[in-house]
Amino acid sequence: EAVLRAHGVYNVAIRPCSGNLTDHYDPRDNSISLSENVYNSTSIAAVGVAAHEAGHAVQYAENYGPVRLRTAIIPATQIGSKFSFILLLVGMVLYSQSLFFVGILLFSLTTIFQLITLPVEFNASHRALQTLENEQLLYDDELPGARKVLKAAALTYVAALLMSALQLLRYVLIFVGRNNRGRRDN
Ligand SMILES: [Zn+2]
Repeated sequence: EAVLRAHGVYNVAIRPCSGNLTDHYDPRDNSISLSENVYNSTSIAAVGVAAHEAGHAVQYAENYGPVRLRTAIIPATQIGSKFSFILLLVGMVLYSQSLFFVGILLFSLTTIFQLITLPVEFNASHRALQTLENEQLLYDDELPGARKVLKAAALTYVAALLMSALQLLRYVLIFVGRNNRGRRDN
């Protein structure tokens, strides 16, 4: 909460939600949901996570560029992830390179989304740590702990991007391989 106030953001609701690692900021109703573990705890990790989510709220309040871009491509990404698999599969089975290619394009939307997610997440953590430090919400010897927690969280986003990029690369290689084979057969 102090993170929000420190940035002059006052109209964000904070509420508990069930589950683990379910913490998130919801721009639709401008609220932060914190999992019970985080909501009811004053541990360094919990404060770090809460401050990170508050960082997201501040990003929306400030209309931070990457957040706007990410929000803008969400609909396209959802369509992409819904249909890319079908197109890739049908393209594969019917040996249709054009369907397969469209499938790759749709799949790449997911990769792009995850790429844009990185600056958004890093920035939220950066804001969180800065505020925790400036507002002295944590003791000095607790800051490295919070930094560690947020860094670990950021790494999961990097891992997700890598997985997605590798998957994309695999599809592209299949596509190129079939193109070459097709040319040889003709
Ligand atoms: Zn986040």
